[in-house]
Amino acid sequence: SYRKGGYHAVRIGDPFASGRYIAQRKLGWGQFSTVWLAYDTQTSKYVALKIQKSAQQFAQAALHEIEVLCAIADGDPSNSKCTVRLVDHFKHAGPNGQHPCMVLEVLGDSLLQLIRFNRYKGLELDKVREICKCVLIALDYLHRELGIIHTDLKPENILLFSTIDPAKDPIRSGLTPILERPEGGNNLNGGSTMNIIEKKLKRRAKRAVANISGRRDSMGGAVVKPARCLDGIDMRCKVVDFGNACWADKRFAEEIQTRQYRAPEVILQSGYSFSVDMWSFACIVFELSTGDMMFAPKTGEGFSEDEDHLALMMELLGKMPRKIAVGGARSKDFFDRHGDLKRIRRLKIMPLDRLLVTKYKFSDTDAREFREFVSPLLDFSPEKRPTAQQCLQHPWLNPRSSDGKSKVDAGMSKLKI
Ligand code: ADP
Ligand code: MG
Repeated sequence: SYRKGGYHAVRIGDPFASGRYIAQRKLGWGQFSTVWLAYDTQTSKYVALKIQKSAQQFAQAALHEIEVLCAIADGDPSNSKCTVRLVDHFKHAGPNGQHPCMVLEVLGDSLLQLIRFNRYKGLELDKVREICKCVLIALDYLHRELGIIHTDLKPENILLFSTIDPAKDPIRSGLTPILERPEGGNNLNGGSTMNIIEKKLKRRAKRAVANISGRRDSMGGAVVKPARCLDGIDMRCKVVDFGNACWADKRFAEEIQTRQYRAPEVILQSGYSFSVDMWSFACIVFELSTGDMMFAPKTGEGFSEDEDHLALMMELLGKMPRKIAVGGARSKDFFDRHGDLKRIRRLKIMPLDRLLVTKYKFSDTDAREFREFVSPLLDFSPEKRPTAQQCLQHPWLNPRSSDGKSKVDAGMSKLKI
């Protein structure tokens, strides 16, 4: 991908925007871009630099993303709507072409990394609730105030405020920024010099963390390794990646969303709106709570991934009403005129709350309350799904403790926002 029209190869210490931003290390990458931690020499702060592939279609997508990010920033001057903040943008000329670059506030690990870090066990429900609130604030803002559909909501595109591993957190580890390219060759991204530098950086960061936390074992010896627990991690997060977002009145793609988070109306091509994001949101809530994807369809003998996906939905949520099943441009590919799947004839029904109790060991109460919150979001009729605004009012997000105070709010009020 590091060729004409592709990613821009970055070396640590590389300057951008006439030397204003200096690349520090890679934060992540997606289909269209690599994202780097950079140091802003003008404000003396760290930023995230998203460098797009240069080919025409990627560059155009970036310009569209910048337009969406500008609308998001304009409508939220206090930066409180749980959506990533764009602070600057420019073009960078490299050997592979002109790369649109976005300068964003730095965020931490994604929810996907959080799920992995927690060893796919599922998070405590109170933590899931805190994440839900942030995502819903973002969706309510996008949908109701801006008229924007995200169309690619998934754990990778929701980032925590800080990283799980403090060794990777430049702010907490107190590292001094790198201001110029370190000595040693002209290796491009992935080359050996870079690996050495990255290793050195990691070691430096680990030492810095050890100094800060001062956690030593009782013998005064080695630093105690952080346990795989999430105690004390503040579960605030923000929605990122507006590369596929669209205004509801200017939709351009038929096939939207990442497979596992895709709503049935998108598969059937019966038209979509804001409620596709609510479907994805429900899939994410399930995944955070159980550690497993809600729907992981596969192609099988004699049936497609799409048909398997529809079957999995019906096994968990009940049969799709006939009218909806036969109402899409692609319905005939999957359903007969009675509204039964053509190739997958026998469904193994397992209602959501029963699955939660038997497979994930939820208590009966937790499972029932979870179902009451999540299953309306998975209504096969898109217009019946609750909006983000309605979800924010749901009792599941505001459980009452014995003293009558909302548990989550009591926790949230302690945080300085
Ligand atoms: P793409 O459009 O190529 O998918 P994303 O915007 O999703 O790009 O970014 C790719 C990855 O880069 C994300 O999954 C995340 O790991 C990382 N990333 C993106 N934005 C930030 C940010 N503001 N702070 C920290 N990491 C980020
Ligand atoms: Mg992405």
